Formats: sequence, C-alpha cells, structure tokens
Amino acid sequence: MRAHDKIICRMVFKLVQRDRQDGEMCGAVRPFAPISILPAAGSIFYAQEKECETPVSILVKDALVYEDGRFVSRDLSIPAQGGAVAFHSLHVFPGFADVHVHLREPGFSYKETIASGTRAAAHGGYCAVCAMPNLNPVPDGLESLEAQRSVIARDACVQVLPYGAITVGEKGEALSDMAAMAPYVCAFSDDGRGVQSDDMMRAAMREAKRLGKLICAHCEDNSLLSGGCIHDGEYARLHGHRGISSESEWRQVARDLALVRETGCGYHVCHVSTKESVALIRQAKRDGLDVTCETGPHYLTLTDMDLQEDGRFKMNPPIRSAADRDALIEGLLDGTIDMIATDHAPHSAEEKSRGLEGSLMGVVGLETAFSVLYTHLVQKGVLRLEKLIELLRGNPCRRFGIDLPAPENLTAFDLSESYEIQPGDFLSMGRATPFAGERVTGKCKFTIAGGKIAWLSSSTEN
Ligand SMILES: [Zn+2]
Repeated sequence: MRAHDKIICRMVFKLVQRDRQDGEMCGAVRPFAPISILPAAGSIFYAQEKECETPVSILVKDALVYEDGRFVSRDLSIPAQGGAVAFHSLHVFPGFADVHVHLREPGFSYKETIASGTRAAAHGGYCAVCAMPNLNPVPDGLESLEAQRSVIARDACVQVLPYGAITVGEKGEALSDMAAMAPYVCAFSDDGRGVQSDDMMRAAMREAKRLGKLICAHCEDNSLLSGGCIHDGEYARLHGHRGISSESEWRQVARDLALVRETGCGYHVCHVSTKESVALIRQAKRDGLDVTCETGPHYLTLTDMDLQEDGRFKMNPPIRSAADRDALIEGLLDGTIDMIATDHAPHSAEEKSRGLEGSLMGVVGLETAFSVLYTHLVQKGVLRLEKLIELLRGNPCRRFGIDLPAPENLTAFDLSESYEIQPGDFLSMGRATPFAGERVTGKCKFTIAGGKIAWLSSSTEN
C-alpha cells in the first residue's frame, strides 16, 4: 500500500442528544429525533486516533448516531477517493437546508450553475437547497420544470428542490400549471417580484391549498415603489439615493395574510426585512394562521448605516434600519421568524460593478451564512448554538418536508478558527457580498450530502 493511501483520521467530536419535547440538551446517551448530532456546552467529547485504509477517507470514531429516535450506527465511515485527513475539535451538525437560493440554471449560467451553486452550498454546510424559479425557461409547467430537473439530476452535489412558479413566466397574469408540477416542487413562488393582483394571489392560494402545497411570497407592492435602490432611510437621505419604502413590503404581507385567512392556504413569507412585517406575522400566528417566514443573515447583522457605495450592498429587499434589525432578532427569539435563508443571488462581476444605483439586486450568501451568524449572534450571546441549528436545519426541513437523514447528511465546522471572508475563495461564481473582508469565526471543514463527500477542506491545520 502506498503511503498516501494510508489515511489517518484524528477527530474530536462532540456528540449530544437532543430531546425535541423539552428542547433541553443533555449528556446522557439516549435516542432523540430528528437531529442526531448536535453540539452544545456540556456535551460529551470523543477523541480517537485511528489508522484506516482506503476507500474510507473520513471516519467519525466513537460517535453514536441516532435518527428519529432510533439507533442507527456506531461510528460513521464515509467512502471517498482516499487521501489523508486529519482534523481536530470539529463540531458536527446535521446538514443545513436553505429554502431560498437562486442557482440561475437553466438560463443564466454565466451567473451561477447548479454545479457551482451546489458546491457553494456544501462549502457552507448545506445539504439541501430550494431553488427559486426566476429562470429561463421559468418552471411554470412540466416541460419547463423538466429542463431544470434534468440538470439537477446530472450536476447537483447536494439535494436541490425546485420551486414551481405561481404564474406563467412569473408575469403575474395567469396561473402556472400548479397541479402538474406539485409532485416535483417543494412549493410555489414568483420570487423576484410580488404577485400584484389580489385575485391572482387568491386563486393561487386556493389551488395551493387544494394541492397541499405552500405559497412562498416575495412581498413587494409595485405601486409603492419609485425606482429606489436601497432602504428609504438615513443613508439614502445622506447620500441622495432614491429609497425603497418599508411599506412596499409590509403592505403586501398584510394583503396576503388576509387572503390566507380567507383561503386557509399554507403560506411562507420570503426574506422578511421590516419591523412592520414581523409584527403582522406575529399577530397572524397568534390568530392561528398557517404562516411561517424567513429572514436572511444580512438583515440580522447589518443596518443601512453599514452601507457603502458598492453594488455588493445592494439586494431586494434592502438592508433596513437598526430598528428593523432589532425587530427581526426579536422575531427570531420569540419564534415569529421560523428560519434563516440566504437568498443566495449571484450575478456577474460586471452586473455588480455599477455602484448602488446601477448594480443588479442580489448578493451571495451560502458560503458565509453560518460563520456570519455564529460570529454575530451566537458568540455575542444573542442566540444559543442549538437555536441557530434549528433555524438553519430543523425548522426549514419540517416546514418544507425536506428529508435529510442525519448520518448521510452532516457538516463539520471548526468553531475555533477565525478567518477573513475572501470572495476569491468562494466556490460560487458570484462574489458580491457585504461581508467581504470581515473577520468571522467558524469554518466548514467537510460536508457529507446523501452519503457522499460534497465538500472536504484540503486544509487540515485546524
Ligand atoms: Zn425575493
């Protein structure tokens, strides 16, 4: 056997069991569901030095693996091509799920492809992503959906669940063939734009209800827009930019919630950014409506006063005020906001090079989400680590019916490693991020998706 075929795996893992009923962490070994590997303070450390032979390239030694309350296995061994792997002190999490990404293929492969976007997802710890339908062709019927599904089957290295469009071509004029697409899509959305017509949204909700599917809404009332590029707040006033009002978002959230009350449709609000939206959704939940929502890392960690005259700070909805950010955090803590999604929206370098006014809307997020959230929210004591994992994995999986059995779908981070976010290191083709140059803690070392290595760091000096 050649020397490099000998694999030395030195890994220290924290393993803890979580009881979903009381949500408390404990060190005793007992079954739990559905999250089977989740670290927390006071959890058990396992350390083992082990030599093993190819084709096993990562060995999780002395780990007791449970899934849905059932003991699955002792240890994990993940086959790969081979190569030396030596890690220390990693935290192993069940793989994350992002319900809001733009993979751009088919139609816009110069921005991102399903291959590059899913590699970026794995690099960020994600084992499943839901792909938005603003594509060409827009998946609004079986034929156009098949164009996307065939590329997913060929190129994806993590699970990709496509959305079906709500309306034909996302034009808001006629309902898509929702019934035909329903078995193959995670939900329906016209993300990128709001459904302007009340009647169209009502019809979509009735059909989605009949089909047992969610409507996921990008809420934006075009009648309240006036060509703005950033939040209509202090920074816009100081720098002479046209603003995007908060009302353009929350007015449509309010409209949709009234329609949910009328139709009984399961409803999810995409990228909530305003304090008014949070209040509306909180009340809707109190009223017993079948409503969930997401927000993104940039809305939770930045305000409009952090903006710079650079396209990497431009997305829709825009980064809002400090009061909005604080309301979003409060919404996370009290359960109004159910999950964190990245709205990973890559564009070409040229498309993001035209400043705040001229650049296209959208930033990438898959490869920075965990470290940004861990640094800003967990390390600062705002969120507990296990709560963050619920927001990145448990809640999105439950709401969207994403099946990610734990032993075959997990990710490992070094929570002691600090590094500077360098867009040049991204596997995504998109490089525009407001977090470029920021120092963060928590680096992804490997991701196993569907039982295969989807990302493995070549750096083992952690
Ligand atoms: Zn959107």
